[in-house]
Amino acid sequence: MDILHPLAPMATERSEPNAAGGPCNDAEVTATVRVAGPLRFMLAVRRRDGVAEVAVDGTSTLVHVVEALGVPRTEFGDLLVNGRPARPHSRLRDGDVLDVTVRPRPQRTEYSRFVLDVHLGALARRMRLLGIDVAYRNDASDDDLVAQAASEQRILLTQDRRLLCRRALVAGGYVSGDEPDKQLADVLDRFAPDLRPWSRCPACNGVLERVAKRQVDHLLLEGTRRSYTQFSQCQSCGRPYWRGAHTERLEEIVATAAITPGR
Ligand SMILES: [Zn+2]
Repeated sequence: MDILHPLAPMATERSEPNAAGGPCNDAEVTATVRVAGPLRFMLAVRRRDGVAEVAVDGTSTLVHVVEALGVPRTEFGDLLVNGRPARPHSRLRDGDVLDVTVRPRPQRTEYSRFVLDVHLGALARRMRLLGIDVAYRNDASDDDLVAQAASEQRILLTQDRRLLCRRALVAGGYVSGDEPDKQLADVLDRFAPDLRPWSRCPACNGVLERVAKRQVDHLLLEGTRRSYTQFSQCQSCGRPYWRGAHTERLEEIVATAAITPGR
């Protein structure tokens, strides 16, 4: 049996019998949870077959039951009890079978802006390069991130599943992938945000505007000044940008994003 706290480590498969032998222990009340394949990597290793037997305590909601197994509420789709759609805050009864489905992609959401946790700086720069509004600070606390998501109506992206279980979180998503290009592909596939490449400053998220060369001339190295004619400048931090040979890698990221399946 499991203790139904979000993402609590599961120490024992079955609960210890009550030494006092009270009536609550006379008959164990259990339900079965079946988790869809793409979500199983979040389960404890011994449960990667996607099936878990859980204790029914009469108070834990379906959301809490699923989160206790390791899958945050931001990550699953419809919940079915005995084959029928169920409300996330309903409760299991003895013998129920709960099916946890995957959230369809692209995910429909009322939010179009993002806030990224401190470990996703490289992803933040890539998303900004594509014109997506991304808040990022490398010193933000978990509380800061959840508060900013709420106050600015942003989707919190993280690889910390405990953070995605926060009740105060308005919208969030787990980012798959160990390296930034894979993470970017995952985010684009899941949220399909509108892209406006080269419109936002990768360094600070400010808006870029085309400017005459003379306006940024004093900020350029001689080689850049000689070789390029078209410039833009961040309206927040003042950094100049130009497109040239040195941005080949960035061009590649933009081109790849444009042909992401499902866009
Ligand atoms: Zn800037």
